[in-house]
Amino acid sequence: MTSLPAASVVARTDLAMSRSPAVAGDADFLEHLTQSPVMVPMVVQNDPAGLAKGLPGKNPVSDLDRNRSEEGGNNTRALCQPEVEECRLENETICKKRDDYLEWPEYFMAVAFLSAQRSKDPSSQVGACIVNPENKIVGIGYNGMPNGCSDDALPWGRTASDKLDTKYPYVCHAELNAIMNKNSADVKGCRMYVALFPCNECAKLIIQAGIKEVIFMSDKYHDKLEMVAARRLFDLTRITYRKFIPKRRQIVIDFDSINSGSQA
Ligand SMILES: [Zn+2]
Repeated sequence: MTSLPAASVVARTDLAMSRSPAVAGDADFLEHLTQSPVMVPMVVQNDPAGLAKGLPGKNPVSDLDRNRSEEGGNNTRALCQPEVEECRLENETICKKRDDYLEWPEYFMAVAFLSAQRSKDPSSQVGACIVNPENKIVGIGYNGMPNGCSDDALPWGRTASDKLDTKYPYVCHAELNAIMNKNSADVKGCRMYVALFPCNECAKLIIQAGIKEVIFMSDKYHDKLEMVAARRLFDLTRITYRKFIPKRRQIVIDFDSINSGSQA
């Protein structure tokens, strides 16, 4: 195996850090917005039509109007107008759902690619991510030496006069590690997102584990014996496999993003 294109291995948290798509569904996020003590008054100020009356609890629209009235001034509408306009602009930005969020398939494949960055293999970094039918991640893995074997004690080379001096007899593939790392009782009925189309040895594991679908990014070893055999096994066991078509070529992780913009 050789390395995957480095350009694909970037993930971007300036898109994802403001909330975790793994834990917060859109419904949860909307619920958070409508219940936020900060957001409610902002909605109200920009809600002359009284749409906020549907919000839970007391209606802050009336309170706001009452307070203005109790302060006794005549109509302060003209004075307040610039402020309201400003709030409306800010509100429209904050309250509208993001439309460039990571969709599930890209998210899972990105997790597989991020995991691959843990690999010590100098020539091939492969990650795999197992997802159950509820879109929950139940296993992640990358290629590496078996547990307890020092990364420095075994060879990483691809060629040597003696095959025992190459990495091949020793390395655990990402698929194997993802299955063995599962945090659920089993992975039956799950799907696997993986950077490279699985070899025949991993195909056996995938079949025995009960995984039903394989989504891969690259099939660059399509004609190698191991991949031909893997397809034969998958076809016999009716495990579906398909190439992943990403909607974006890169996902960038920017740790500084959490400190910029509006994150409240
Ligand atoms: Zn394999």
